[in-house]
Amino acid sequence: MPISIVPVPCPNCGEAQNVTPGNFDPEAEPFGSVTCMACGRKFDQDEYLAGLKMRHAKQENP
Ligand SMILES: [Zn+2]
Repeated sequence: MPISIVPVPCPNCGEAQNVTPGNFDPEAEPFGSVTCMACGRKFDQDEYLAGLKMRHAKQENP
């Protein structure tokens, strides 16, 4: 099942501009190094997945 990679808001600066590595899989262990393009913060997997969930919920319930 294809995974749609959507940028999630940064907990630090609020910018939804993530830098993801190639072949990034948010469910993978170890978690790929996702960083914020704006402030360079490194996302925890929990943070990223929480943001992803929020984005998906928004898309499904406009
Ligand atoms: Zn940031």
